[in-house]
Amino acid sequence: MIRIGILGYGNLGRGVEYAVEANEDMELVAVFTRRDPASVKPRTNVPVVHADKAAEWKDKVDVLILCGGSATDLPEQTPAFAKLFNVVDSFDTHANIPAHFAAVDAAAKAAGHVGVISVGWDPGMFSLARVYSNAVLTNGTDYTFWGRGVSQGHSDAIRRVPGVKDAKQYTVPVPAALEAVRSGANPTLSTREKHTRECYVVLEEGADAAAVEKAIVTMPNYFSDYDTTVHFISEEELQRDHAGLPHAGFVVRSGATGKDGEHKHVIEFNLKLDSNPEFTACVLAAYARAAHRLASEGAKGCKTVLDIAPAYLSARSGAELRAVLL
Ligand code: NDP
Repeated sequence: MIRIGILGYGNLGRGVEYAVEANEDMELVAVFTRRDPASVKPRTNVPVVHADKAAEWKDKVDVLILCGGSATDLPEQTPAFAKLFNVVDSFDTHANIPAHFAAVDAAAKAAGHVGVISVGWDPGMFSLARVYSNAVLTNGTDYTFWGRGVSQGHSDAIRRVPGVKDAKQYTVPVPAALEAVRSGANPTLSTREKHTRECYVVLEEGADAAAVEKAIVTMPNYFSDYDTTVHFISEEELQRDHAGLPHAGFVVRSGATGKDGEHKHVIEFNLKLDSNPEFTACVLAAYARAAHRLASEGAKGCKTVLDIAPAYLSARSGAELRAVLL
């Protein structure tokens, strides 16, 4: 049995609790939290321990799955906890992955542990799809589309607008752009041509709807480069119709081979997820198995999904994989 710990009990932490249950070779031994442990109630009967006491569990946890946020939690937590455990995280700030890798690599190497970072679907399974298709189809163009799905970062950005009580934001691929890419036409697409943004907003009592809408659609980085629609709805409608965290996405590479590129090829990998955190948690669990195996073989330091062979993810033996899935 691989003994798993969860650090941080939010959406992803709850998802990992399900994912561990769904893997027969894993058991959840503890949930660690920065909050008062008495205030955190896992669905199953598992001990809740304050994160400051994690060192006491050093020999009782094989892999710690970090479920904190990428903005401020993981840059501190992953290197710190790699000193105590083999760790896996879902760090998704793409631009900062090289710096995060270096910090986790130094900590994990010094302690003799394995740290797998940026596990999930993007980064994660989408990264694998991009690297496989780039390596194979060297003459080509990459496209990634996200949605239809909830962007937590954009929803948070709307919630910070004065007059907004609550909000959900959906990122939506433009169907015509996706079709053009799938046809192998290799279109050049601007940010605005690839995705639209749909916002569902609950206003504070007495807030000025026109001013809130303007503040959202003109917000730099988040909305100003997109066609954005804002729908004002009641709190009840938000709870009833927008409580979930679905997501989806498409990684496409189209390219050409042969004389003057006469033969076109399109590689596509896509996902449609009812629950982004529950699915991300499933990917984390598979990579926790890989981390455990790598550590058992004496590996040390930081890895990403690009460094780990696929067979390490599966509970099945090499012989079984060759017979059934190859
Ligand atoms: P949450 O905001 O739900 O949880 C983040 C942390 O906040 C928790 O670990 C928890 O830590 C703390 N927390 C949660 N609930 C409460 C509460 N009620 N009161 C106080 N603190 C609370 O984030 P998610 O779980 O949804 O997402 C975590 C990260 O996962 C995201 O930041 C994103 O970077 C990453 N992610 C990556 C993906 C990928 O494809 N690579 C896909 C999806 C997500 P504690 O228990 O210690 O207080």
